Amino acid sequence: MIKYYKTNNPADCCGCKACEQICAHKAISFQIDDEGFWYPSVNEDNCVQCGLCEKVCPMEEAETTLHPKGKAYAFQLSDKELLLYSSSGGVFYAVASTILKENGVVYGAAFEGKTVKHKRVDCIEGLFDLMGSKYVQSDTGDTYSQVKRDLKEGKEVFYTGTPCQIAGLRLFLRKEYENLLTADLVCHGTPSPKILADTISHIEDRLKSLFVTYSFRDKKVGGWSCSSSSSYEKGNRHTYLKYSKEMEAYFKAFISGHLMRMNCYQCPFARIERPGDITIADYWGVKELHPDFPNISKGMSLFICNSEKGGIMLHKFSSTNFAKEVDLLEAANYNRNLQMPTAYSDERELSYQLFFNDYNGFLKKYYKGNYLKDSIKAKMVYVIRNNEWIFKIVSMLTHAIKK
Ligand SMILES: Cc1cc2nc3c(=O)[nH]c(=O)nc-3n(C[C@H](O)[C@H](O)[C@H](O)COP(=O)(O)OP(=O)(O)OC[C@H]3O[C@@H](n4cnc5c(N)ncnc54)[C@H](O)[C@@H]3O)c2cc1C
Ligand code: SF4
Ligand code: SF4
Ligand code: SF4
Repeated sequence: MIKYYKTNNPADCCGCKACEQICAHKAISFQIDDEGFWYPSVNEDNCVQCGLCEKVCPMEEAETTLHPKGKAYAFQLSDKELLLYSSSGGVFYAVASTILKENGVVYGAAFEGKTVKHKRVDCIEGLFDLMGSKYVQSDTGDTYSQVKRDLKEGKEVFYTGTPCQIAGLRLFLRKEYENLLTADLVCHGTPSPKILADTISHIEDRLKSLFVTYSFRDKKVGGWSCSSSSSYEKGNRHTYLKYSKEMEAYFKAFISGHLMRMNCYQCPFARIERPGDITIADYWGVKELHPDFPNISKGMSLFICNSEKGGIMLHKFSSTNFAKEVDLLEAANYNRNLQMPTAYSDERELSYQLFFNDYNGFLKKYYKGNYLKDSIKAKMVYVIRNNEWIFKIVSMLTHAIKK
């Protein structure tokens, strides 16, 4: 039986749902706790003590899923438009579009209403839903079972997710498939889906409009950084919100590590050895380590090939994009979650308490700016960044002043 069922310790479950998917007796289901995270519960009347759920649990079997240290590359898409819609250098799009061109299918995380779920995509247009980091826990649903069906039918499958989701999938499958390629993300941790959904609802209430979409990393707003935007509509009126204290507070609390699922603070995957054939991340150290690389300000991915399959995939698109081998350990110095989990602090409990009982207190804790000043500044930066000739004039003036 799964360890979580015996200990009831939230640190023993990442919520990947591999146990539910493997149980042929439908003895496992999920309940959502007060914070908004789902945890398994077991119906002992249905359970036949076969022990399978234990064998597929990535929190118990993490070590068995890890590849030895891989080879790292800096990567950037050559297509400027696609790069703009990717969170970092667009390595996800490069791999996913290659798989689709070979008649394969791709699985990744997409918004469904105010929550994020894993879904299957079999055409290029569908990739746009999967592109972009969603800093919240994604629900894998029954995608592991769907993957198994696709693999058995002989389809090429590309599955992307957090390392615990990738480990959960590989354990669920219980054997290696030549036609499966997996990519894990370097992972800071995942906040509660309820916190995100309520944040969006607070904005809806303020704007008296309905939520359309959310981008955690909108390069049109802040370049290659962590600037969020979201869209709302009321009748024919469409609001593209480039700045809001609600989104700022959410991001600050996330980056500070105060919103994560409890097991994230003891994550067994925050290390150099990885469960995916490929690991994808932001190459935050590139400015310091390789200032000579082109177009750094547009976003650079760190692409780690952990298996032979990962290397073969990179070879398929490296010559038409920017790809250069770099030192993995040097790169990891700028990416803490490749070395250790996000640290737990008592502030986490305070954050959840404030969020649900005193939302204004939560906003005050994480948003310290002057809202009017900051939103005017954000609007000006947006106009400058998105008008080429204004951008050129401002760059020339800044350069002249600096001289
Ligand atoms: C919760 C989370 C934490 C992260 N923490 C770090 C970090 O600490 N350091 C770092 O360098 N990079 C981190 N990343 C990865 C980073 O944000 C980019 O996703 C990555 O660099 C890929 O960018 P891209 O340009 O290739 O593609 P994009 O087009 O941005 O690709 C996004 C990919 O991420 C997947 N994805 C998006 N949201 C989720 C989700 N909620 N759960 C599972 N999969 C998801 C999509 O399915 C897609 O495959 C994190 C991502 C997530 C989702
Ligand atoms: S031990 Fe077997 S039957 Fe019982 S919950 Fe686990 S997988 Fe299902
Ligand atoms: S298999 Fe996944 S969902 Fe089930 S107990 Fe383990 S970590 Fe939790
Ligand atoms: S930090 Fe670890 S446990 Fe948490 S979501 Fe990421 S990979 Fe899973």
